[in-house]
Amino acid sequence: MKIKTNYANVPCWKEVNVKSHIPESLKMLEEMARNIWWAWNDEATEMFSSLDPELWSVVGQNPVALLERISYEKLEDLSSDEAVLAKINKVYKKFKEYIDVKPDASRPSVAYFCMEYGLTHVLKIYSGGLGILAGDYLKEASDSNVDMCGVGFLYRYGYFTQSLSMDGQQIANYEAQNFGSLPLDRVKDENGQPLVLDVPYLDYYVHAYVWKVNVGRVPLYLLDTDNEMNSEFDRPITYQLYGGDWENRLKQEILLGIGGVLLLKRLGIKKDVYHCNEGHAALCNVQRLCDYVESGMSFDEALEVVRASSLYTVHTPVPAGHDYFDEGLFGKYMGGYPQRMGITWQDLMDLGRINPGDPNERFCMSTFACNTCQEVNGVSWLHGKVSQEMFSGIWKGYFPEENHVGYVTNGVHFPTWCASEWKKLYAKYFDKNFLHDQSNEKIWEAIYNVPDEEVWKTRVALKNKLIGYIRNQFRDTWLKNQRDPSRVVSLMDKINPNALLIGFARRFATYKRAHLLFTDLDRLAKIVNNPDYPVQFLFAGKAHPHDGAGQGLIKKIVEISNRPEFLGKIIFLENYDMKLARRLVSGVDIWMNTPTRPLEASGTSGEKALMNGVVNLSVLDGWWLEGYREGAGWALTEKRTYQNQEHQDQLDAATIYSLLETEILPLYYARNKKGYSEGWVKTIKNSIAQVAPHYTMKRQLDDYFTKFYGKEAARFHELAANDYAKAKEIAKWKEEVAEKWDSIEVVSMDKCEDLHKGNIETGKEYVITCVVDEKGLDDAVGIELVTTYTTAEGKEYVYSVEPMEMVHRDGNLFTFKVTHSLSNSGSFKVAYRMFPKHEALPHRQDFCYVRWFNKD
Ligand SMILES: *Cc1c(COP(=O)(O)O)cnc(C)c1O
Repeated sequence: MKIKTNYANVPCWKEVNVKSHIPESLKMLEEMARNIWWAWNDEATEMFSSLDPELWSVVGQNPVALLERISYEKLEDLSSDEAVLAKINKVYKKFKEYIDVKPDASRPSVAYFCMEYGLTHVLKIYSGGLGILAGDYLKEASDSNVDMCGVGFLYRYGYFTQSLSMDGQQIANYEAQNFGSLPLDRVKDENGQPLVLDVPYLDYYVHAYVWKVNVGRVPLYLLDTDNEMNSEFDRPITYQLYGGDWENRLKQEILLGIGGVLLLKRLGIKKDVYHCNEGHAALCNVQRLCDYVESGMSFDEALEVVRASSLYTVHTPVPAGHDYFDEGLFGKYMGGYPQRMGITWQDLMDLGRINPGDPNERFCMSTFACNTCQEVNGVSWLHGKVSQEMFSGIWKGYFPEENHVGYVTNGVHFPTWCASEWKKLYAKYFDKNFLHDQSNEKIWEAIYNVPDEEVWKTRVALKNKLIGYIRNQFRDTWLKNQRDPSRVVSLMDKINPNALLIGFARRFATYKRAHLLFTDLDRLAKIVNNPDYPVQFLFAGKAHPHDGAGQGLIKKIVEISNRPEFLGKIIFLENYDMKLARRLVSGVDIWMNTPTRPLEASGTSGEKALMNGVVNLSVLDGWWLEGYREGAGWALTEKRTYQNQEHQDQLDAATIYSLLETEILPLYYARNKKGYSEGWVKTIKNSIAQVAPHYTMKRQLDDYFTKFYGKEAARFHELAANDYAKAKEIAKWKEEVAEKWDSIEVVSMDKCEDLHKGNIETGKEYVITCVVDEKGLDDAVGIELVTTYTTAEGKEYVYSVEPMEMVHRDGNLFTFKVTHSLSNSGSFKVAYRMFPKHEALPHRQDFCYVRWFNKD
């Protein structure tokens, strides 16, 4: 055979990257596309969309992809269109004026660490509330001109896209992101090559690329391990948000904390305060401790400095939200660190344990964060209280209500979440300085000057926009799920713009009780089918792929929504993301939230609703416990009536039904001649005037500065001055006290006879003295008299803490005295507490040595 059956060689392809050539007069578009400032500036998004509205929708409203895909001819046309150029120039001028402002040097600088950031639906690096909060925070930091940078991950697959099977089964799709088409810049090194960050793992390095998102004036650095320098074992570290096994989670947290600090070092960035947003990032303090120790400090000195400059924000009271690692797994990756920090392995493990020395206790990231950050906070007043309890085991010797865990209530970024229709209305009626003074109730009060019709018209316009969006976006998914096209048409027709529209959208974690509304289906069917008072419910939300119960809830709601009596009355919308959230929180009439008390740390979607004239109907939990005002929304009481959750659910559901039947629906349908309900508009106005000013991200950011950053930065600089003289002095003092602590002796105690016998009278004064031998310490001990009472349920509370005054010193012997009296009668307990005292300590838990004593 002289002729082969076939004969060809392999093609030698060469990759050619075709970059769109942008005409000179449109160059600024590229610059603006790569700063997500457009995500919260309506004129900018409007401008991009107007370049090619159809393509804008095809590319998912992503300006970078738009410019990539837009044809050269189209760009040529645009560049010769005066009106288009004028629009672009106007937006560009505003952009430049904004971007060119230098950060405010009078406020402390902050490095912010978080696993997820919800900045725009285009960047799929968020899953829910935590991410949205972090994204909103960076945007506000930019608007408020704060010197801040963020650290996080660029996920290849991010969080999943949700679709539903016909019977309501959630299907999770992970779609790879093409980083080249996203609003990101690759960070380059000194030679113009992609910067590679080497992060030590076991006995080798993981190599991460670094990307930068320009969040207005604030840079957000994102690490990415999906590259050929890494093994198949390490590339997936940044594949998925909250995906993978525990080992991958640990590898992620090492990358975020340790890698994050190494990155800032590599970029030459130093900040005053390091803010750990959730425990995931807590290992940043391991790297910071190593750095200080390797620069010549002892571990104790380094810990003083690191603690003084770090803040830990906890976001969840649900145990599943806290990460615990087995000693074996943790040791596999972290085994080399103790030596670098000058401590033992046991010491490091103990920093993550509530009971140091207990070999069965796993390493808890939250406990480690509490032990290495001076300040800790929850995200609402109630959540602060719950966190005090949750962490109280770490600070033995103090009652939960005594520890330093504080709170800052979450807020939302006004320009991101307020619909442009409302922004225009506010611009017309509110003080010009509004955006710079968002927490000022006086300014928001101007809503009372807006004619009722205008408020109502704005609401109706946004409601119609939502309904139009639903009809457009969900036709195809519904056709797929409902099988019968005529059914879909009838469903579409049933969406009634005149009906009261109630929205419920959030993660489908079971504690959020999405099922609550469906406790009594007969009663619900009566409510939704009352021809005089039509009402419709929209549901949306994703359940974590490992959360079977959450997925079960979605299925149940979808099944109910398919029953004839609920068709078109209860609608589940797939794939809740920022885009859908923006439509929902501005388009419905009522935003409903029904968490199990007290598990909603804060919740933020109801705050988004506020500024859009949407009224809240919610359990008094999280932010709403603080936000609720009579006449400005509806509340389910915060008191738990039943221990039994099922009974509590039934009671809460009955409350919702009866609120709807007797208050909400009659108020909504009390239409006047002009076609709207004056009472309803009044409720909207009350909610905007009295509640909204307190839940903006501006207020939240300002709170972090006044409550934490300012205090920490000041103390950090005090400790760091003169080569860390003060830090070294405090560490030395603590070491000395720790060494002598057990030998300190209560030499004598003089307690009046009555008190000793446990019989005292109200109003009568009792003098107590005691003498303490400090064994060579120089007035390092404080003594106080602690009185507690125990409630009928058996819970012990602090009734009073009375400091005993040091009245006499004789060598090592210190005499303390207090005059004690009680103004309430009842059954109390009294004991004495000894603690180390030093004016440079930020709070007692900073040096948590306590000895209780009493005279027997
Ligand atoms: C605001 C928001 C959340 C958080 O809402 P909560 O009320 O805190 O549960 C979650 N997901 C998306 C897409 C959001 O926009």
